[in-house]
Amino acid sequence: MSPKAGGDAGKVNSAIYKDKSKPADIRLSNINAAKAVSDAIRTSLGPRGMDKMIQAANGEVTITNDGATILKQMSVLHPAAKMLVELSRAQDIEAGDGTTSVVVIAGALLDAAEKLLQKGIHPTVISDGFQKALQMALQVVEGLSTSVDLSNEDALLKAAATSLNSKVVSQHSTILAPIAVQAIRAVMEPIQGGVGARVDLRDVKVIERIGGTVEDTELIQGLVIPHRASNVNGPHRIEKAKVGLIQFCISPPKTDMDHNVIVSDYAAMDRVLKEERQYILNIVKQIKKAGCNLLLVQKSILRDALSDLAIHFLDKIKTMVIKDIEREDIEFVCKTLGCRPIASLDHFTAENLVNVDLVEEVNEPSGKYIKMTGCSGGGHTVSVLVRGTSGAVVAEAARSLHDALCAVRCVARRPALVPGGGAPEAAAAAELGRAAIAAPGADHYCLRAYADALEVIPSTLAENAGLNPIETVTELRAAHASGTQSGAGVNVRRGRVTDMRHENVLQPLHVTASALALATETVRAILKIDDIVNTLN
Ligand code: ADP
Ligand code: MG
Repeated sequence: MSPKAGGDAGKVNSAIYKDKSKPADIRLSNINAAKAVSDAIRTSLGPRGMDKMIQAANGEVTITNDGATILKQMSVLHPAAKMLVELSRAQDIEAGDGTTSVVVIAGALLDAAEKLLQKGIHPTVISDGFQKALQMALQVVEGLSTSVDLSNEDALLKAAATSLNSKVVSQHSTILAPIAVQAIRAVMEPIQGGVGARVDLRDVKVIERIGGTVEDTELIQGLVIPHRASNVNGPHRIEKAKVGLIQFCISPPKTDMDHNVIVSDYAAMDRVLKEERQYILNIVKQIKKAGCNLLLVQKSILRDALSDLAIHFLDKIKTMVIKDIEREDIEFVCKTLGCRPIASLDHFTAENLVNVDLVEEVNEPSGKYIKMTGCSGGGHTVSVLVRGTSGAVVAEAARSLHDALCAVRCVARRPALVPGGGAPEAAAAAELGRAAIAAPGADHYCLRAYADALEVIPSTLAENAGLNPIETVTELRAAHASGTQSGAGVNVRRGRVTDMRHENVLQPLHVTASALALATETVRAILKIDDIVNTLN
């Protein structure tokens, strides 16, 4: 809030809103609780933001800079504070990046709303005023954007790099950014007759692996299964594989109910063993007949999917077998290989198998994994093997890669980039400030307050970079007021205000626009609440 707006409060006093004390108290407590959440993650914003170490009750430690991750793991009790956690999640789903920014903006807007309430402006009036401000801000941000061509890899790289800039693993952005761009380009499908492309992030499988450094992260056009083959003496490398994915088990069947079979003499024992042998042999013979030399077995929750005897027989027919394919991975495996899961032995025939050029079991000090490349019948999917020296590093690298993938996806969906470093927020604040002067009544205050609240992004970026936030924001205001430097933002490297376009700090328009829209929506929702009602149970 600017001090000027405080001095003018008397003008709206004629329309003063007399709230009963309870709704006012509830509103205040909601605002304060939500602001506390926002304050907690403010220091993580931007390339020079701090990281958080999150300790779970079971002693597990997560180190992260990602707003959505921090909030997801924070134990938040107040219902209004939970709304900000939800807000961050909504941004994560909608855009994938900008999860810290959205909460920081919401916190600043709540602070602004609190001051407007103190002036006696009715919550509904503030809510409407903020909605008007949002529309204007969105227009400004859109005006600031430059559209990009999706075949222009360079533009996508910049969006990915900006997203990675602010991460713990930022020094590896030269490796991770191209991987993110290649992965999205491999899976995107252009929308016929429209702009942009459709991207399903489920087509990019990120596999975390401890061992090596983040620099060793690789993109694989094919399938990676993060465990070893079950064979004891079987093949570990197959060229021109014929692959079958089965959903049934190759082990003795179990009864539905828990009961015992008591075998009292050797002859009966022999019969039982022979039966089992025959049963398994029958399945393995069918596998051999179909010509399958790589068998993938879905994980079974009822029993061991493969018995020792089955592995023995499969070894003999030189079929590589990989068990414990997770149920939720089946869809991805099918899409990658271009196959369908085989649910019963009767359907295990040659025409249900698919070809893969090369399957190999890669042996590393940290363990073995399976790599399949050259999946001829497959759809557009890719796997990314993220590596790092420890669990915490790998997990954070994977989360950062997720943000970068999302950033590129945002550009694919809506091919436009805006300068970062607080430039869009500062430009919108400048424009709103101009509009506020002409706006009548309470709108004047609401637009002014919204404009000031938006400056929280550049001011926090500056603060986190060790710069003087007031000096930086004033410099930024001057730059935007001149009307010629629309890309001016906080240059954290040089410690002053420069044009972010020249610094290649560009981010997807969708991330910024969605952050503004979602933050405003949540703040309006919080303002409209005037009571908290607890249920009986
Ligand atoms: P979020 O979770 O909201 O994405 P980040 O910590 O990633 O939060 O910070 C994003 C903010 O940092 C954006 O406003 C972006 O413009 C800004 N930013 C990223 N890279 C730079 C940079 N090199 N210089 C200045 N600002 C940057
Ligand atoms: Mg980010």
